[in-house]
Amino acid sequence: MSMRGFSFMSANVSMRGLVLTGFLVGCAALQGQVVSSAVSSASGGVPIGAAIAPAKADAAIAGALQQVSAARVKATIEKLVTFNNRSTLSSMETDLKPGTGISAAADWIESEFRRYSAECGGCLEVKRDEFIEPPQPGPASRILKPTKLTNVYAILKGTDPAQAKRMVLVTGHYDSRNSDNFNTHDAAPGANDDASGVAVSLESARVLSKLKFPSSIVFVAVAGEEQGLNGSRHLAKLAKSEGWQLEGVLNNDIVGGDTTPGDTGEDKSAVRVFSEGVPGLATIEELRVLQTLGAESDSPSRELARAVKEISASYFVSGTKRAAPAGPGMALSNAVMVVPAFHPVLIFRRDRYGRGGDHTSFNLEGWTAVRITEWRENYNHQHQNVRQENGVQYGDLLQYVDFDYVAQVARMNAAVLGTLASAPGIPRSVKMEARMQDNNTQITWEAPAGMPSGATFEVVWRDTEAPTWTNVVSAGTKTSIKLPMSKDNVTFGVRSVDAVGHRSAAVLPMPARGGGPGVPGTGAGAGVPATAPKQ
Ligand SMILES: [Zn+2]
Repeated sequence: MSMRGFSFMSANVSMRGLVLTGFLVGCAALQGQVVSSAVSSASGGVPIGAAIAPAKADAAIAGALQQVSAARVKATIEKLVTFNNRSTLSSMETDLKPGTGISAAADWIESEFRRYSAECGGCLEVKRDEFIEPPQPGPASRILKPTKLTNVYAILKGTDPAQAKRMVLVTGHYDSRNSDNFNTHDAAPGANDDASGVAVSLESARVLSKLKFPSSIVFVAVAGEEQGLNGSRHLAKLAKSEGWQLEGVLNNDIVGGDTTPGDTGEDKSAVRVFSEGVPGLATIEELRVLQTLGAESDSPSRELARAVKEISASYFVSGTKRAAPAGPGMALSNAVMVVPAFHPVLIFRRDRYGRGGDHTSFNLEGWTAVRITEWRENYNHQHQNVRQENGVQYGDLLQYVDFDYVAQVARMNAAVLGTLASAPGIPRSVKMEARMQDNNTQITWEAPAGMPSGATFEVVWRDTEAPTWTNVVSAGTKTSIKLPMSKDNVTFGVRSVDAVGHRSAAVLPMPARGGGPGVPGTGAGAGVPATAPKQ
């Protein structure tokens, strides 16, 4: 059994803040977490160095997670499989049996969103975006003629007029394929790839639409993934052209928790979260700055991945259960085993080797996006004709999907969506004072648009060799901070927190002397400067 769940948060906490300052005044145990603090005369008494601990769970979000139902997930995936073959190309066929093909699947997904909306008094704005994808050129073309694509999505509008334009988005692709890209008639069940991801979008919509959030959440099912990310590219461009303030995209693709008899390598407590380290849109000049700063691991998408991990720790806790009998016919053991908490494992790469996904469409339009995928994939159960060969069953069949696992993935998504839609936006124009050659850290920033009253800012940091944020200090409502620590020895970030503890993702400061706006297309100014620092 994996031990990854145990290393989460507590064991990885850095105490570097104490070592750096050397002004330790006390260690205290607070709510079961070891919290250390230090005061430096140089910082004017600002306490620094508290270890990051999981935030208290939001009771309303926790309640929504309890509503996530493996039975509902199962019903959704079973229904999607009944469409037989959800190839995007099937939208152009005229001889399909009624109730089969991708267009019938789009109708059903739309009807599900409408049903959830009816249950919340029309709270969801349900949209159906149909467009014609032109043929792709070249010998590797997977679309040979103009083809109708349909994205289906539902918007849960934010209730705070000052923040309602902000959005977080969850997506999965509802198209499927078998061994032949052009096959539109034989079975292509796509139970895991990617009915599971669509079930996460739908289930998130069903449970979160019963709540209200200050900013908006978009629940999406796209087509065309298997032909080259066409549906998601269209949506990412649409979001840009319509001026969406899209702050984070969770792409769930292959989250079924493949269950193959005899496979002992799958880990049902873990789900992978892939994120790009360098923004796909970075210019040569921007790349030069990232190289200079060692900022290859602090793109907005990677900060979103870190937020996924931190938020998950608030909602998933490890438990215990009685150990199984040592053998058949033996008495139930009295031994107690620890069951690891369901947890994301951050994978610091854009995607798997030689594979792609819809998050990349968003990244390439400048949006912040990550990919969520089961721990261990079974390639006999993806993109395969349903068949048996030498006693091996091929095909993306229902029988290999673990609906409880998909429900856990849906809970993780809903926790992240609910938290980020409750949190203030990320701080803007986050700058590190770099003109002074000294051993302090001075960071300035601007409040996000529509920052609610009672919200504050936090400065977080980690050792440059550490994967996730380890230490935090509150800046209160101030938009600058000076810390008696060398800016060169750790990596800093700044994030927003609302009055009850919903945190935004963090933003890496850029050198103030270089100036410049943030990443093109993110709208929020996170990440990458426009100009390089002086040598
Ligand atoms: Zn897929």
